Amino acid sequence: MEELKLDWVQSLLQSGELVNPQHGPLRFSAGSRLFAEGDPGDCAYMIESGYVEVSRNTANGKVVLDVLGAGEIVGEMALIDGLPRSATAIAVHDTDAVLIPRQEILEAVETASPMARLVLMAALKRLRGLRAINGSGNDCETASANHEYSATRIEAASRLKARTALEAAIRNREFQLVYQPIVSLLDGRTAGFEALLRWPQPDQQAVSPADFIPLAEVTGLIRPLGLWLLSEALHAMKGADLSLAKQSGSARDFFFSVNVSPRQLDSDSYVEKLAQLLEQPDVDSSRIKLEITEQALIGDPVKAMVSLGRLRATGASIAIDDFGTGYSSLSYLHQFPLDTMKIDRSFIYRITENPGGQRVVAAIIALAHELGMDVVAEGIENVREVKWLQSHSCRFGQGYLMARPAPLPTAIAHLGRYFEW
Ligand code: C2E
Ligand code: CA
Ligand code: CA
Repeated sequence: MEELKLDWVQSLLQSGELVNPQHGPLRFSAGSRLFAEGDPGDCAYMIESGYVEVSRNTANGKVVLDVLGAGEIVGEMALIDGLPRSATAIAVHDTDAVLIPRQEILEAVETASPMARLVLMAALKRLRGLRAINGSGNDCETASANHEYSATRIEAASRLKARTALEAAIRNREFQLVYQPIVSLLDGRTAGFEALLRWPQPDQQAVSPADFIPLAEVTGLIRPLGLWLLSEALHAMKGADLSLAKQSGSARDFFFSVNVSPRQLDSDSYVEKLAQLLEQPDVDSSRIKLEITEQALIGDPVKAMVSLGRLRATGASIAIDDFGTGYSSLSYLHQFPLDTMKIDRSFIYRITENPGGQRVVAAIIALAHELGMDVVAEGIENVREVKWLQSHSCRFGQGYLMARPAPLPTAIAHLGRYFEW
């Protein structure tokens, strides 16, 4: 297990995906250069402490454009328009700065609305022009623009801090997976497990994935994290097989479900890496289910179709997660290679007291069956819900009534029992 983890972090370090050193920001000693005029613009910096002087060389000698301090960002222009650095940045005192990789900004700019991009580019063009003429871009900044800027700066700084913490957690291998049984409602046996991510904290309270997954998504860190997740789940499956074989002499057939976020599907190279993990000779990919939310299907349906096709070609199956909460168009649902529908727990909550909700869930189950998918009901918390689902031909269920997510040894103990309702 240790070996797999080491490989993974090692390859991440080599890929340049993690940009800041293990213990926080980069350190520039007084007089050292962050970048020079003419350098390629591949990153920006947010200053945490110290001062950075930004200057240009002109016919009349050096002109200082700005001196920037804590909370300010430097080197951002080249990041957006990809042009060489138009100024030189030197640390005036010892300075700590967090690196912002170009990739992150590029993706944000590319996915912004065309109008937002246009405004950004126009402003940048004007700023570069002004700086060329006056040696300073401050002239056009009004009080209200300044106010807006500082609010945005505070937001960006806190996000950067969170990103750095997330990166550190990846480097330090702080993430863990827990597993929740997915149970056959026909016979009460555990059919598989969903792997769920946990970020334990020193003060015992784990940060909820609902809080850190969105951050991992916007920063793109979900992609390397997603690779780790899958390799960890594959490893857990082998571990589960081994321990069962030891106990009973034979392994049982059960699957592992792994969540895959939309951001993982829009990068061809990451989809390929996921596929290669599944195609390792000692992996039985037919026992792996990839859970994709509806959102992954709507952004760029054609791309999603290709990515899912590649993943399914490995032998893995695909589940549509949180069904009913997104905006999926029923008209294209049948075009995707989907095997399983997971009905979101908001539909199951209090289903037995809600005749309107019952009609909706009954219709969803019928739709799934019509499309050849099996159905998992999420968030089952009491026996009445099980009974209702059983009587409406829902084959699988998952919820606190059966078991909460738990570390692997606790979770696989459920394989040896029947749930009874
Ligand atoms: P999800 O994929 O819908 O996962 C099911 C969530 O419902 C889990 O929360 C699980 O603990 C919770 N749950 C299960 N049974 C019950 C129940 O009976 N009642 C209630 N109230 N909740 C129940 P968790 O682990 O906090 O995960 C939250 C979400 O974070 C997940 O929703 C998923 O969207 C995301 N997530 C978790 N792990 C991963 C991961 O490894 N990768 C990605 N991309 N997303 C993940
Ligand atoms: Ca899920
Ligand atoms: Ca779900």
